[in-house]
Amino acid sequence: MQVRLEQVTKTFAGSKNTQATAVKELDVTIASGKLVGLLGPSGCGKSTTLFMIAGIHDVSEGHIYFGDHDVTALPSDKRGVGIVFQNYALYPHLTVWDNIAFPLLNAKEMKKRLKQRFAELSPPMANFKAYIQRLVEEAAKLVELTAYLDRKPAELSGGQQQRVAIARAIVKNPSILLLDEPLSNLDARLRVQTRDEIKRIQKQTGITTVFVTHDQDEALSICDEVIILKDGVLQQQGPPQEVYDHPANQFVAEFLGSPQINLVGGSIKANKLYLGNEEWFALPESLSDQPVNIGVRYENIRPDRENRKQAFEATVTSIARTGGTSTVQVRLADGQPMRLHRDSDDVLQEGDRVRLYARPRTVYIFNAEGEKILQ
Ligand code: ATP
Repeated sequence: MQVRLEQVTKTFAGSKNTQATAVKELDVTIASGKLVGLLGPSGCGKSTTLFMIAGIHDVSEGHIYFGDHDVTALPSDKRGVGIVFQNYALYPHLTVWDNIAFPLLNAKEMKKRLKQRFAELSPPMANFKAYIQRLVEEAAKLVELTAYLDRKPAELSGGQQQRVAIARAIVKNPSILLLDEPLSNLDARLRVQTRDEIKRIQKQTGITTVFVTHDQDEALSICDEVIILKDGVLQQQGPPQEVYDHPANQFVAEFLGSPQINLVGGSIKANKLYLGNEEWFALPESLSDQPVNIGVRYENIRPDRENRKQAFEATVTSIARTGGTSTVQVRLADGQPMRLHRDSDDVLQEGDRVRLYARPRTVYIFNAEGEKILQ
């Protein structure tokens, strides 16, 4: 099911008649069957956006469509969404089986829909209870918890508990699955495992899934697309690699990538780019003279072995070796720092003066407002 937000704004009433806009005129389309990450720093409006799609928060302005259907005024339980929260919200006194079956047995709207689906089964089943049993078992199998159905949540690992929460959301056969920071309570190892599980489950079911995270690694590794927000405003949407390679502005360039992109001050004078005070290269197109921020990802900077005209001077200030690669910190002629990656067996030493090079097409140029003006 496609999800479309059209000019969606959410304003919360604050104390003393103040108003806070959490999401502003958001226009996004989430294609059917995709796993899409809502990404951005704390407070940028990710959860608010997810809760508006879920129908937990109403929208202040704008419209939300599921397919062609305007669901803006539809209550949450009639939207056919499954939601997984950060804290799992499992019932501690119930078994895994009962936790998964809970939404099937206890929500009036769901029961009505289930009875209808049961009546339309082909081939038909004789017994409604057996139908519920089958649905719970299918969901448990999908999240690989068949062997744990009799356990209570406290007898499971954090990752397993989160999978129960996912099974409980999926058992309802939702047309949209919404995950709010589903991995943030897990330790690093389980987080990687569970995020891969989420990807597998999403691909297997094909359910359109929106995944909120502030962790860019998480989003970049499993999402088909990312939507990046800042202060409630859309910055960019696209496949992770495309957004990484072609950030729309300085905020996105800095937000994506670890280590963070190198950003150094420079300027444009007479259509030439200056890095600090040093002329770097002639611009491929005409731009007005101005101070700029220059962004280059660490993996795109390398020592110049061919005496290129476009190389620039730097001094190695430190080298941190980690496994097969090292992170080399350098200082430019005017003192600005930069970082690059080398193989650990590279011959660079602290104190070396080096000439560095980056292909002009891997260099982003931002104006003083952080807007991209080149690349
Ligand atoms: P985090 O990563 O910290 O969870 P987020 O990106 O999910 O952040 P939201 O929770 O959507 O951000 O919040 C966006 C903005 O709206 C914040 O400034 C927050 O303080 C505000 N906000 C969220 N919920 C409410 C509320 N119920 N009442 C008032 N303001 C709220």
